[in-house]
Amino acid sequence: MTNQYSKDIWHPFSHPTAVDAQIDPIHIVSADGVYVKDDQGRELLDGTAGGLWCVNVGQSRPEMKKAITNQLDEMAFYHMFGGASHPRSTELAAKLVSMAKPENMKRVFFTSGGSDSVENALKIARQYHVLNGEPDRKKFISLKCSYHGTHFGGTSLHGGDKGGVRRNYEPLLGGCIKVEAPWLYRNPWHCDDPEQLIDSCINQLIAEIEFNASDTIAALIAEPVMGGSLIIPPESYWPRLREVCDQYGILLIADEVITGFGRSGCLFGSRGWGVAPDIMTLAKGISSGYIPLGAVMINERIEQAWETNNDARGFISSGITYSGHPVACAAGLAALDIVEKENLPKNAKIQGDYLLEKLKPFAEKFPSVGDVRGKGLMLGLELVADKKTRQPVDVAKGLALNIAAAARKHGALVRPAGQRILLAPHLIYTTSHCDQLVDALSKAFNEIDR
Ligand code: PMP
Repeated sequence: MTNQYSKDIWHPFSHPTAVDAQIDPIHIVSADGVYVKDDQGRELLDGTAGGLWCVNVGQSRPEMKKAITNQLDEMAFYHMFGGASHPRSTELAAKLVSMAKPENMKRVFFTSGGSDSVENALKIARQYHVLNGEPDRKKFISLKCSYHGTHFGGTSLHGGDKGGVRRNYEPLLGGCIKVEAPWLYRNPWHCDDPEQLIDSCINQLIAEIEFNASDTIAALIAEPVMGGSLIIPPESYWPRLREVCDQYGILLIADEVITGFGRSGCLFGSRGWGVAPDIMTLAKGISSGYIPLGAVMINERIEQAWETNNDARGFISSGITYSGHPVACAAGLAALDIVEKENLPKNAKIQGDYLLEKLKPFAEKFPSVGDVRGKGLMLGLELVADKKTRQPVDVAKGLALNIAAAARKHGALVRPAGQRILLAPHLIYTTSHCDQLVDALSKAFNEIDR
């Protein structure tokens, strides 16, 4: 076995024998700001905010450490079931409701992370319809190429093709309908025109809603900017989604696990599209990854269903031991304080625009880069075998992995994700960090993709 670190671990999203065979596994031992240090003492610029879009405020911040240790001095844990609470959960809920005031969000259901948030959002959506007198509304709609976590609900909604991550775990939740994503670069209509593409997507969505009986559909869930597939919907897609949901009485759930708290250049991704969803799922940036935390926020319409139905059907038979963990909430309060004080959504937009400008020429310079896209600090390079046909690279050939390994050699961590390279810098990046990231990536492409 080559990978000495993993002999006792099963890693998420990996094949154990492939992990065991890794020659130069990533083993990060410390981190500060936007840099990490690996086991060989190499300092690397992190272009991924901790690998998974989390550490928006940067690593090892004194304000974060202070908030966490203060809370530990005060109290490590107390639960929230049945009405119990503690100061940090109360404060963080108030903070979240005030941050999402324009969306008319009224209440917060705390969870331990993104998958938990999605799972509970689905349950809340179904229960809402029960209270609202439409108990047949049980089905869900999600987009192809989407990612909503790995619990059974989120896995059932997963939009990967050929079974994607669903296959090994079937049979999954029934009644999960997948519709086309608004992907300009690759769609079944070979359509490059944003407005035409939206028309096609919306027409298909309406056809599916009607085919499946609209009064059996509980909710449509979508990522405002699709993280794993890095699909940025054209401007009017989300407003059209909102219209269709309203027309058919379907709840709109914005999965803001990545886009929440500034990453796409706006405080919430849906706000960036001028849309107020009914439910928001949150995680990652909520505590900047310092302590696991997630949340579901519900708007007034949903709250009202509970307010006006004061009977047993409204009992929420769902909850997680660590819902609103005091230390996680303390981290959340400190992280969101930094997001606001340093106006990180604005910085994400500025640095994201700058990075995108610098990366765009990669599509001309390198034979395998078919498309470069980004919104805020969510960016990606699409790798293709043929630029004309846009045929994706054969993932088994490992081009993305090789590029990421080369970038690492040149001092930066980027994320290889199947047929693309993803970039998700911390929201505190400066232009000189962006330059350093582009430089390492450019050297990597020059070496591997010529
Ligand atoms: N929804 C979205 C949009 C995500 O990107 C993720 C995680 N990347 C999840 C849900 C699941 O979150 P977690 O991994 O914290 O369970």
